[in-house]
Order: sequence, then C-alpha cells, then structure tokens
Amino acid sequence: MKASAFSYARASSIGNAIELLAEHGERAKVLSGGQSLMPAMNLRLLAPELIVDIGALDELRGITRREGTLSIGALTRHVDLQNSPDIATCAPLLKQAIAHVAHPAIRNRGTIGGSLAHADPASELPACVIALDATIVVRGPTGERRIAAEDFFIGIYETALSAAELLVAVEVPLPRSNAAHYFCEFARRHGDYAIVGLAAQAVIDNQKLTDLRPAFFGVGDRAVHVKIPALLGADVTPRVLAEALQALGEALDPPEDQQASGAMRRHLSKVLLARCVAELLSRPELAAWKLA
Ligand code: FAD
Repeated sequence: MKASAFSYARASSIGNAIELLAEHGERAKVLSGGQSLMPAMNLRLLAPELIVDIGALDELRGITRREGTLSIGALTRHVDLQNSPDIATCAPLLKQAIAHVAHPAIRNRGTIGGSLAHADPASELPACVIALDATIVVRGPTGERRIAAEDFFIGIYETALSAAELLVAVEVPLPRSNAAHYFCEFARRHGDYAIVGLAAQAVIDNQKLTDLRPAFFGVGDRAVHVKIPALLGADVTPRVLAEALQALGEALDPPEDQQASGAMRRHLSKVLLARCVAELLSRPELAAWKLA
C-alpha cells in the first residue's frame, strides 16, 4: 500500500519545526528515522497532512556528558547508542537493550526520540528510560518542559507530548559506583517486539539490593515500573523472592493477544524478575526457584 497524499517541510531549526507543528496541530507529524511513521502511513493507519522532517537539525544529534547526566539528543540513532563508549560506560542498559531492537537496517535509521515519542508498549527503550530514572526534555511554543520518564508514557502510542511539542533530548543520570543493570526479553524471534521484557537498574551494597527500578514492557498499555519493597535491604531467601514474585503478579494485569495470554505474560514477568535478582546478586540458585 502507499501513503495518502501529504505535504512535506524540512525544518530549518528547532524553532521552525515547533512553528510548523503549532500551525498544523494534530494534522502534522514529525519525521525522525521514519521506521515507525512511514510503515504506519503506508498501511494508512496514519494520514497526516504535513510531515515535518527534523533530520537536518544537527543540534538534536549526539551524546554529551554534563553535570551528572548523560544528555542524548533526540535524533541520536539506535546504532549510535550501540557504538557509543559513553553509553557503554554510563548507560550500559541502553547498549544491552538496543541489541534487541529490530535489525541493523532499522537501527541505522531509527532514533531514540522517535522510539520514545512512538511509545509502543512492547518497545525496549521506554522501559529502559524509566528504569534509568531519565528525564525527557520537550520543547514547544511556550518553552521547554522536563518530564520524568515515568510520567511521559500515557497509553498505547500516547505520551505527554502535545501536538506542537518536539522531543529534543533524554537526560540519563550518571550511575552510582555500585549500580548494576539487567535486561532480558522474550520474543518469538530475535529482533521482534517483545512478548514480555524487563529492564532494571539496581544499587547493590553488601550483597543486598538497596535500590531496584524494574520496568516491564509488553505487559500493558505502556512500560510499567513495579516497586517491590520486599527485595530492598533484605537477605533474599527463596521465601522472600516468592513473596516478591507474588506481589509482582498482583501488580500486573497483562493483556491477551495473538502472541500470549495474560496469564502467560504474568508468568514470564515472574521468570524475568527471578532471573534479574539472581543475576544482580550473583545467586544463580534463585533463578531456578520454582515459581508459584
Ligand atoms: P519515526 O518513525 O520517524 O517517528 C515515530 C513517531 O514518533 C511518529 O509519530 C513521529 O511523529 C514521532 N516523533 C519522532 N521523533 C519525534 C520527536 N523528536 N519529537 C516528537 N515526536 C517525534 N522498535 C522497538 O523498540 N523494538 C523492536 O523490536 C522494533 N522492531 C521493529 C521492526 C520493524 C520491522 C520495524 C519497521 C520497526 C521496528 N521498531 C522496533 C521500531 C523502530 O525502532 C523505530 O525506529 C522507532 O520506533 C521509531 O524511531 P524513528 O526515529 O524511526 O521514528
């Protein structure tokens, strides 16, 4: 299929892009890597009247360390995240996750800003930015807003962005020295969207988790951060873990679709959390704990 007719504007500056978006409102769409927008247009799931191409805005590209944060420009491509030494050192969770996003051809064009603005509930990067406690920086006609990643995702393909706003950057706090990360997903084939996945950041002191931010994806209308107090500061015995997994099961209400039932997604989420705790604490026996 082919997209319906649309007009095209190549933004000359961030200000120009915002002016165009403000003028055309819901009838306009931003074009970044086009890896989600173009298929949706070709399938006539979307029919914007105007495409605002921000591809020439170099100020939206790149990764910079500043004042305790790693600032990632919206147009930074998946492949740039994958190859960046700063990401490998300061946000290794993103590097791990990107390997599961689609395939090289898509990662060569897809961008972090496009992925977050697209807000697919089965997508890896929204869960990662929630786990990393990142801030999403957006700019619109009235100036800049900074939104906690956890508040940015509202529903399926829905975010806190208004039609006139541009996602300009993501700010990831630099990790503490005793921070650790975990990423894993279940997908039918490598590169497919996940059936269920988990991205987590933790802080470990004396073999105990003193902080844990697990963000699950593929389990609802958006990535969800599930707080599990039972695991914090505790000696994680099989019994403590079983209680934590039960609490997780009660916190999630995953949907059913052609890939998996809600019950299967809940079960896989528990498997992932058990493996996550086992890996973070270097206690492989916990991953084998029989799930209730
Ligand atoms: P675009 O397609 O250009 O835009 C996506 C949406 O975000 C549009 O609505 C657009 O208007 C809006 N937007 C883009 N940039 C901005 C901005 N700066 N400010 C405001 N709004 C903006 N993704 C995964 O996460 N996991 C996968 O496993 C996966 N598999 C894929 C498999 C295939 C075959 C394909 C085609 C895509 C897959 N994707 C997957 C999607 C891919 O990662 C996309 O690149 C990404 O979702 C969107 O990034 P983009 O830069 O291409 O955005």
